[in-house]
Amino acid sequence: MVFFPPIWAPKLPKVPTDITIEQFMLDEEHGRHPHRHSRNPFTDGLSGKTYSLPEVKQRVDFVARALVEELGFKVNEGSEWDKVVGLFSVNTIDYLTVCWAVHKIGGVLTAASAAYSAPDLEYQLKHSGAKAVFTCATLLETTKEACAKSGIPENRIYILPLPEKAALGATAPGLKTVDDFIARGAKLPELEKLRFGPNDGAERTAFLCYSSGTSGLPKGVMISHRNVIANVLQMYTYEEPGRSKLKPEAGQPKYTENCLGLLPYSHIYGLVVVTHTGVYRGDGVIVLPKYDFEQLLKSIQDFKIAMLYLVPPMIIHITKAANIVKKYDLSHVKAIFTGAAPLGAETAEDLQRMFPDWSIKQGYGMTETCTVVCTSATHDIWFGSSGSLLPGYKARIVTVEGVECTGYDQPGELWVSTPSNTLGYLKNEKATKETFTIEDDGERYTRTGDEAVVRVSPGGNEHIFIVDRIKELIKVKGMQVAPAELEAVLLTHPAVNDCVVIGIPSEREGEVPKAFVVKAPGSIEESDSLLKRDICKHVEKLKSNHKWLRGGVEFIDIVPKSPSGKILRRMIRDQEKAKMKKQ
Ligand code: AMP
Repeated sequence: MVFFPPIWAPKLPKVPTDITIEQFMLDEEHGRHPHRHSRNPFTDGLSGKTYSLPEVKQRVDFVARALVEELGFKVNEGSEWDKVVGLFSVNTIDYLTVCWAVHKIGGVLTAASAAYSAPDLEYQLKHSGAKAVFTCATLLETTKEACAKSGIPENRIYILPLPEKAALGATAPGLKTVDDFIARGAKLPELEKLRFGPNDGAERTAFLCYSSGTSGLPKGVMISHRNVIANVLQMYTYEEPGRSKLKPEAGQPKYTENCLGLLPYSHIYGLVVVTHTGVYRGDGVIVLPKYDFEQLLKSIQDFKIAMLYLVPPMIIHITKAANIVKKYDLSHVKAIFTGAAPLGAETAEDLQRMFPDWSIKQGYGMTETCTVVCTSATHDIWFGSSGSLLPGYKARIVTVEGVECTGYDQPGELWVSTPSNTLGYLKNEKATKETFTIEDDGERYTRTGDEAVVRVSPGGNEHIFIVDRIKELIKVKGMQVAPAELEAVLLTHPAVNDCVVIGIPSEREGEVPKAFVVKAPGSIEESDSLLKRDICKHVEKLKSNHKWLRGGVEFIDIVPKSPSGKILRRMIRDQEKAKMKKQ
């Protein structure tokens, strides 16, 4: 049975395949952007510094000119893979300036999580073939270390300025900044226009974001220009019936609002949903570099933010801190949108009790589908559900035995077809073939690795409920942690003979990694607790903070495996669940 978007949703307009993301977002000639009515796209939530749309456009143009001169890139020669630029920074009002400048010259932007350790960053820079990196002063030491090991010279590290409050005294003497690029670009001649054939937008990679997919190590997901444009149009089209009812605010452009730009732009949710979709709609994105609870509440109040993009641990924080929350005026908030990990119906109910007027919406998506698959609509909210399919999507649910579900409430793996389905994994044909498959209707589907059921809402619309995760992935505060990556690191510890890592529930973080370790013979002298601590420290030395073993280490006699040697991860997960229930 194939599932479609609800009948009330407007049809997806034609998705252009002959333009870049930057042209789609900034060129008026395409007539797709409600430019003339937009708020300032980016405002710094700490300093109040703001850029209008013409300013953003000019900054993008000048940075692009300077980049071409600085790195010797040729706008219309070679492939996009000759022009890969890394971006390793917290959110700033120039984050998208750098992304769109790279697109303007036909390059690939690879965004790395600001939570990364130097070895994690090094892996991405090497694998993507990045030629230069933009970073911020607070992450400079990590960047230098990773660049030194990936062959990127120090003079190819460039700096995104941070507001004083976020820089915390960190400086980057001697390195070029985005503002230096802009001053230089202003003096350079106009760039030749990027020539894009009728299908280049669909075939050329624009962003390379890292995801472990259904198993193994993080892989570079090749995201085309068309993929991003498609998802922006899908979200925009789906939300339009609800948004056209927004009351225009005094002195503000019609149907626009300020939205919260706190989630990391290095992750697909922050990148496509918060920034691209927000700016396309004409909204003002209030940029915050990091999660600071009181600062967040203050920004919502001061900037009269109407739409909050959050992840479940932040919502739990709000529901548990009513005393702090009530000190702030949050009366401008109309809706929240949560995604990246499941939001329990009970938490949604707690939040609704605190704020009866808020629309609490959940979206489900992934890097491989270049973002949102389904989401709640304002008029049809059902807690626990991830809403209905966006326009342009088709979905199927298939059991582990490969049998397609023929009705509602039947659990199986969710497969989706959409113009935003990405191009595949860089230099990894095997994983690409396993995840993206052409089915009997001739459509290319992403096998999500998530278990879902479809149910019909009281409003008569089909809703998707994500009920479990079949794939190996662990999500810590919405950020990916690949068990295979931690297992590889654990095996380099002399006392570890074999191991398996799973995610266990955590109230604050959603999930945290826990390791089950088979000790190497001869490692018995140390006490178990000392050894556990030593194993944790070993991971902490090499891996990013959110990948640390906060779920602890447990010693076991043997890692359960199938006759072919595959780890029976689900068995360990089920045993752990049963143990936790008993406690
Ligand atoms: P990422 O590629 O980092 O966005 O991770 C995508 C994965 O996050 C999905 O495949 C799901 O496992 C999980 N995920 C995202 N949104 C939700 C949601 N609303 N409910 C449950 N899991 C989610």
